[in-house]
Amino acid sequence: MPADRLPDPYRPEPDVAAALLAGLQGRLDWPRAAAMATPWVHAVRAQPAPFWALESLLREYPISSAEGLALMRLAEALLRVPDAETAMALTADQLGRADFDGAGGTDGSSAHRLLAGLSAQAIALSKKLLPGSTEPPGVLQRLGARTVVAATVRAIQLLGRQFVLGRSIAEAMAEAASQRKALPRLRFSYDMLGEGARTEADAERYLASYHHAITHIAAARPAGQAPMAGDGISIKLSALFSRYEEAQRQRVFDTLLPRVRQLLALAARANLNLTIDAEESDRLELSLDLLDVLADDVAREHPHWAGFGLAMQAYQTRAAAVVDEVAAIASRRKLRFMVRLVKGAYWDGEIKRAQEGGLAGYPVFTHKHHTDLSYLACAGKLLARHDCLYPQFATHNAGTIAALVQMAEGSGAAFELQRLHGMGEAVYREVLKNPAIDCRVYAPVGEHRDLLAYLVRRLLENGANSSFVHQLADEQVPPDELLASPLQVQPAPSLPLPAALYGPARRNASGVDLACQAQRAPLLAALPASPLPTVAMATPADADAAMQALHAGFVDWNARPVAQRATLLRRAADRLDAELPAWCGLLVREGGKTWGDAVAEVREAVDFCRYYAEQAEARLAEQVLPGPTGESNVLRLQGRGVFVCISPWNFPLAIFAGQVVAALVAGNTVAAKPAEQTPRVAQRFVALLHEAGVPGDALRLLHGLGETVGAQLVAHPLCAGVCFTGSTPVARLINRTLAAKDGPIVPLIAETGGLNTMVVDSSALPEQVVDAVVQSAFRSAGQRCSALRLLCVHEDIADGVITMLRGAMAELRVGDPAELATDVGPLIDDDAFAAIGAHVARLRRDAVLLGESTLPSPPPLPRLLAPVAFEIGRVDELRDEVFGPVLHVLRWGPGQGGPEAARDVRTLVARINALGYGLTLGVQTRIDSRARQIAADARIGNVYVNRNMIGAVVGVQPFGGEGLSGTGPKAGGPHYLYRFCAEQTLTINTAAAGGNAELLAGMA
Ligand SMILES: Cc1cc2nc3c(=O)[nH]c(=O)nc-3n(C[C@H](O)[C@H](O)[C@H](O)COP(=O)(O)OP(=O)(O)OC[C@H]3O[C@@H](n4cnc5c(N)ncnc54)[C@H](O)[C@@H]3O)c2cc1C
Repeated sequence: MPADRLPDPYRPEPDVAAALLAGLQGRLDWPRAAAMATPWVHAVRAQPAPFWALESLLREYPISSAEGLALMRLAEALLRVPDAETAMALTADQLGRADFDGAGGTDGSSAHRLLAGLSAQAIALSKKLLPGSTEPPGVLQRLGARTVVAATVRAIQLLGRQFVLGRSIAEAMAEAASQRKALPRLRFSYDMLGEGARTEADAERYLASYHHAITHIAAARPAGQAPMAGDGISIKLSALFSRYEEAQRQRVFDTLLPRVRQLLALAARANLNLTIDAEESDRLELSLDLLDVLADDVAREHPHWAGFGLAMQAYQTRAAAVVDEVAAIASRRKLRFMVRLVKGAYWDGEIKRAQEGGLAGYPVFTHKHHTDLSYLACAGKLLARHDCLYPQFATHNAGTIAALVQMAEGSGAAFELQRLHGMGEAVYREVLKNPAIDCRVYAPVGEHRDLLAYLVRRLLENGANSSFVHQLADEQVPPDELLASPLQVQPAPSLPLPAALYGPARRNASGVDLACQAQRAPLLAALPASPLPTVAMATPADADAAMQALHAGFVDWNARPVAQRATLLRRAADRLDAELPAWCGLLVREGGKTWGDAVAEVREAVDFCRYYAEQAEARLAEQVLPGPTGESNVLRLQGRGVFVCISPWNFPLAIFAGQVVAALVAGNTVAAKPAEQTPRVAQRFVALLHEAGVPGDALRLLHGLGETVGAQLVAHPLCAGVCFTGSTPVARLINRTLAAKDGPIVPLIAETGGLNTMVVDSSALPEQVVDAVVQSAFRSAGQRCSALRLLCVHEDIADGVITMLRGAMAELRVGDPAELATDVGPLIDDDAFAAIGAHVARLRRDAVLLGESTLPSPPPLPRLLAPVAFEIGRVDELRDEVFGPVLHVLRWGPGQGGPEAARDVRTLVARINALGYGLTLGVQTRIDSRARQIAADARIGNVYVNRNMIGAVVGVQPFGGEGLSGTGPKAGGPHYLYRFCAEQTLTINTAAAGGNAELLAGMA
């Protein structure tokens, strides 16, 4: 990728918008465009959409309402649920909470009333008949419930049907032919529906399906027809390779590229249009690099083919530069590309990714009209480059269409409009009255099961308040408002930037966009040379001297105002944040972290510093307590003395920093003993705190073995408290040591291990489950206390989930963490490697192997263990935490035999509770009430629903468990600091000297 091919995606939004606006000056007369579109709006409203157009339904039940949400949830999940029990529970759960009763057709359309009526009836029935209703139970109820579910399934199928042209390419082409009878100028771009590939088998299936479709389209194509004039196909690169991502760049070129080439050759030979859909912004740079190579192929092998196309998203802040770049790629090879300009379908996901990653801004606009403005600016550029680009404008927005028509006038450019099948029909009915305008329909093809993700996107699009189609259906929105000019610049984003996510009091830690070369390069360059310098071990005399010094230093440090201590933490956080690449380099080198994990860890350390600073100021301030007159009462919190902090190697920075700064900010001095495997990270962090202003006699690093240095510190008479993160057996040892000591009984904060499970029911989406499982079980080589150890899958979907999991595991890359492409690095040391290896060997003998990743040959590093999964028969076969990439899988459900089998979800959770650990639990279900019930039943500290179960964020998911998993309070939570504090009340008799002057003075 040429370094300066694209600008920074995170430039301030107003600057980007202002530049786009300037580029449009004099090219567009918006009032004229609005005047063109106004009659279309009136005409559409005068002839409201039939019910299958969906606008009507979503006007009644917008997605912001409980009803709209219920509809969307059901649409997403119901059709894939295989068993009746779960389907009934899901339907009851969603319909039970919505209130469709009041709805009815207001537009006079009988079809609309029909659907509203169907919904209302289904809901009314369901309330009576589904499980959880107040009606008496019985056979009738069950029969009734099945009927309601069947009706709801039918309604969802009807919804889905609106967006699919046919179940197979042949069916879709027949439907297209019939639509063309009414409108011969109509063209189609077929889209073979489905989720992105998770496995090679998925990718090969999609490849075959694209192949089949192209062959079919080619066979029906009239001889001599140009790609612009005929039907074509749209393909998604994420369907053709499960690892279509920046980190896997080499494999993308090795594996994905040949597949795309194969399809391109097929389309080129048939001279039809093949368009590559636009996906998430983190694939943009990669997609342009692929385009560069593909363009060479086309220029070499099919120089006269003008059917190669790609989609571009105007909502990206880099959109205008992408048009320039694509034009340059085409014109350099004397080619002409077909370019579909869209606004972009993943807006919500882009915003979330940026917030979660603490990115420098958003890669997409946050004001809808900035996207519209960008769209028009990009359209202007496309029209201007019609020598090498054929503009295809995909939009349902009447204002945008009118502006495009105006801009195209006199440009000399041929262009076409595009809409999605099932959307925008009414607007296009008006627009296409102009016989000079050509139109192509994006036509999804697939079975119900493949349609769900696509259907939800469309429901969101139709139901969003900001959406044109949604507002068009709403008579309350006056045409002036609907057609308001987008040619304006807002001075600030409409959402707080990721840095401001936690409000003004606490800045979010900065992240790195690893998909952006400009951000990635400094990070990768910061890998320190190996070997790293050694850190001297503390002797028993050192440890004793340190405890004495820290004891002496306590008085001064504790006497400092909380705000002063908090300031030092913030100073340290700012430096960590600014030096992120160097810290990541050290974590990769010393801790064997992958780059992604390293970034997340530095961010967590930054968050700990800022969070505890904020918490200390908010919670440790003196509190005035109520009491009788003549007396003042205050509660004060302060340090307890010397706190011993003992941390593990798996988060050598974040956990180390979290413990130390929490103890310090509460007023304690700290003897910090890092894990013996990772002393350098700890040493550097202690140095950073000292440089930030923490005195030497408030914080000492004591590197050494747990059995010697750790044990000595815990047993030391001056130890006023212990904060420990590590294994349950060592926590017990510490507890016993403390109990055996004379002198004060001191607090122990212990965060220990977990036998973490994920419960998956049959309403869950297998792709989402597999993504979450792979991340939770194998990221960091399973060396996280939160990592998934036991996956419990409902028997009715287990085979499918296991097959997909096996395929996804085969795609993981095990290797050197310094390589960006590595998913799974080495185990921490030889002991761990031997112990986990022995466990795996035992499982190979006693359990069923489900899948495993492959090790590179020869392995580039020692201690690499390939992720592996085994099926086991009972929850309690798992006894101890296995701290590596080993996953156990169990089936649950009514068909499971044996007295210990978990036949229902509550029994399953009881069995999980009986293991005694209580750290993390994953739940994958679309039944909200079930998720809540599981969380209520579980004796577990962190419960994650429909996502992965690792990576707790400070102040967002305070982390820590119960039972064998720890004492609490949760790290990164509002109760943590109190455990480091001693409490004192100060009561002063203010009436002691001569009487209650205050009372008397106030009695006037
Ligand atoms: C033929 C065709 C092909 C398509 N192919 C693709 C594709 O390959 N890749 C893809 O991503 N999408 C694709 N889409 C989907 C497309 O992105 C949406 O349909 C489109 O954004 C809707 O735009 P509109 O002009 O019809 O509606 P409008 O209502 O005018 O615009 C809605 C769009 O505005 C944007 N938006 C919404 N809220 C905000 C906000 N607060 N700030 C900034 N922007 C906001 C979003 O992009 C949203 O989709 C395709 C659409 C069509 C018609």
